[in-house]
Amino acid sequence: LAGLDSEIHYAVKANDHLAVLRLFAAGGAGADVVSEGELRRARAAGMPAAHIVFSGVGKTERELRLALAEDIQQINVESAEELEMLSSVAAAMGRVARVALRINPDVDAGTHAKITTGTAENKFGIPYGEALALYAHAATLPGISPVGIALHIGSQILSVAPFRAAYARAADLVHGLRSRNLPIERLDCGGGLGIGYGDEPGAPVAAYAGMLKASLGALGVRLMLEPGRWLVG
Ligand SMILES: *Cc1c(COP(=O)(O)O)cnc(C)c1O
Repeated sequence: LAGLDSEIHYAVKANDHLAVLRLFAAGGAGADVVSEGELRRARAAGMPAAHIVFSGVGKTERELRLALAEDIQQINVESAEELEMLSSVAAAMGRVARVALRINPDVDAGTHAKITTGTAENKFGIPYGEALALYAHAATLPGISPVGIALHIGSQILSVAPFRAAYARAADLVHGLRSRNLPIERLDCGGGLGIGYGDEPGAPVAAYAGMLKASLGALGVRLMLEPGRWLVG
């Protein structure tokens, strides 16, 4: 992808048919799952656990235990409470969870309110201003290995500008983490690329890729992308 150090994780909620998942697995994509059911379907379709990211609000203890038992690639933690729960579950199992903190960059994706997830008024992610402190705390917790930052600002986004604004804030966090000597290997850029319905043009994907390269290409982190709708729509 645009010559970047990057990987694709198909967002399973866009279409969880096993044939679709098998196609993406065969093509080398990983999966972004938001429930035990999606995790099990991705595994059943042949996705290696090492290519699976678990996102989403309200993960249960049982789901976290499954993710740890499968030793999936990464768990995207949505809140301070979830981080504490994951730490105690992982420590009790003698496992270490590779964790990205999902931050809320507080940018408006300019899409429908019901599918906007990146502004401060909605429930998704750790408030931007608390991210550095929580990341530092995560690095001290048993059973937790913080590896990155994640964000996902919404769905059906048809312009590059909201992504650019969010990624600029994420890049600032990466610099902030490095200046505190905290480890940061990955930046999960989320999904949200829109498609054309009827006569509407879809998201300008080449411009998106160019923006990714310009905004994040020199950060020295591996980029993770989680398109859903755009891959199956
Ligand atoms: C829904 C979702 C996606 C995929 O969104 P699309 O708009 O289908 O690209 C990616 N990441 C997370 C965390 C999601 O909730």
